[in-house]
Amino acid sequence: MKIVDEVRNADTIAISGHIRPDGDCVGSVLGLYLYLRKTLPEAEIDVYLEKPADIFNCISHIEEIKSEINLNKIYDVFIALDCSDDRLGDVRPLFENARRTINIDHHISNPGCGDVRIIEPKRSSTAELLYDLMDADQVDEEVAAALYIGIIHDTGVLRYSNTSPRTLQIVAELIKFGFDFSSIIEKTFYEKTYVQTQIMGRAILESVRFMHDRCIVSMVSRRMMEFYQVTPKDLDGIVNQLQAVKGVECAIFMYETGTLEYKVSMRSNGRVDVASVAMKFGGGGHVRAAGCTMNGTYHDNINNLSIEIAEQLDIK
Ligand code: AMP
Ligand code: MN
Ligand code: MN
Repeated sequence: MKIVDEVRNADTIAISGHIRPDGDCVGSVLGLYLYLRKTLPEAEIDVYLEKPADIFNCISHIEEIKSEINLNKIYDVFIALDCSDDRLGDVRPLFENARRTINIDHHISNPGCGDVRIIEPKRSSTAELLYDLMDADQVDEEVAAALYIGIIHDTGVLRYSNTSPRTLQIVAELIKFGFDFSSIIEKTFYEKTYVQTQIMGRAILESVRFMHDRCIVSMVSRRMMEFYQVTPKDLDGIVNQLQAVKGVECAIFMYETGTLEYKVSMRSNGRVDVASVAMKFGGGGHVRAAGCTMNGTYHDNINNLSIEIAEQLDIK
């Protein structure tokens, strides 16, 4: 199946992804936008997304993301990427009102939504899946660089176990276009501002191991974010750093989003299925990387997560 066949007759198309967009979400949304603009020059295509982190400004045409939403507009096709409709945020009504809806995702926790559902949990990233839904000869350098960013971010620069031979074949095809992939990795994945590094250091310093040191947890409060003058986008990567501690099987990182409300990120080495833990609390994700929003005190949240994790690790 090819994506153009699903949208060929559409005059108006909207594309969007999940709230708090990560690299895969931004790369997939922009990659598909640039691809469809090229293959269907007559169609009017709008792209909606919560403002991405500044590191993604290197993606071509990122400034064309629409921030104003006309809720009365009815699109012929709405394509939701890297999430189910429940994480579309403010554009969800546009998805619901569209004449035809398409959902393309790789989250195991997503049963799929809309008229056409392409959900492939074995895919490293939505960007990888999208590449196989495109005609390779219509992919150009801008599309390639956007999809590359998606794949790089969801695979931790091709090192997580979701990286497959197909992922690497696609990456090989993409880098043939000659964009500066090394700089993309450095600037979007590894480089941190000074305050981002400081708050990461603080979170690591204040982390606590529990369950016989097989789990680790840390938290950043709103006060800490104010002190370092950072926003949630600056906290990316902290949970991965916690998971890198030798002996740790499950890492939990939380930041305060409101009164008694926390955004929770979890990572695992595969022993704990964190997607199923997150789903118990209304979230989702993948076996080794998942998230949810929890209400309650920090300690209550740890306790509630611990019960689920202990069961999986067979700790009484
Ligand atoms: P994060 O919480 O940003 O570390 O996300 C880890 C993985 O879980 C990513 O693939 C997210 O897209 C996914 N994820 C995070 N929060 C949710 C949620 N509330 N519902 C479904 N998937 C989520
Ligand atoms: Mn994502
Ligand atoms: Mn993804």
